[in-house]
Amino acid sequence: MWLDPPLPNSHYKEIMCNLYRDLERAKDIKMLLKVFVVLMVCECDEPATFLISRTDENPDRKFRGCPNFKDKYKKCDFFLWLDPPLPNSHYKEIMCNLYRDLEREKDVKMLLKVFVVLMVCECDEPATFSISRTDENPGRKFRGCPNFKDKYKKCDFFLWLDPPLPNSHYKEIMCNLYRDLERAKDVKMLLKVFVVLMVLLMLFVVVLVMMMKKLLDERI
Ligand SMILES: [Zn+2]
Ligand SMILES: [Zn+2]
Repeated sequence: MWLDPPLPNSHYKEIMCNLYRDLERAKDIKMLLKVFVVLMVCECDEPATFLISRTDENPDRKFRGCPNFKDKYKKCDFFLWLDPPLPNSHYKEIMCNLYRDLEREKDVKMLLKVFVVLMVCECDEPATFSISRTDENPGRKFRGCPNFKDKYKKCDFFLWLDPPLPNSHYKEIMCNLYRDLERAKDVKMLLKVFVVLMVLLMLFVVVLVMMMKKLLDERI
């Protein structure tokens, strides 16, 4: 069963696809960076040492490096700054991409939020809130073109706001519920009409009785 509504058209599907791809990529990079930082192992396959740079070029800058750095015959080239800026263009690129993806994700989220609130159909008019009453989608909220009644004017804009029902069993339950509600409304209406008719009938009877009494009085 879908918990979220489907997207209205391929344009928004593409936006969402890109968003998820970017999110996955961002997650992968985050995960990689996390694992990489925790399990950081140098090229000698030894846990990288935490150190702090004291050079003029990089004062007080944390880094991890080969634990064998003192042994110039054994040490490897492993070296990673833990504080920004990053050690080389490769990591700079990774981080740049990560931040770009995060920014893009924010933009897409914002777009989607604005889109849902200010939802405008392809005629550039605010989409109408409606509730489906079909057997296929009973009680399911959607937004659509406000010109849907005008078959020459209406556009193809359509978006379910509620998830679809999982199977015919639930569809039947909802259909029955709505039919019962409709019937209940009908019964209420009937009761109202009945009450009004009763009141009218009583008034009629009262008037009739008064008239009869008047006639009787006149005869006497
Ligand atoms: Zn090493
Ligand atoms: Zn429209």
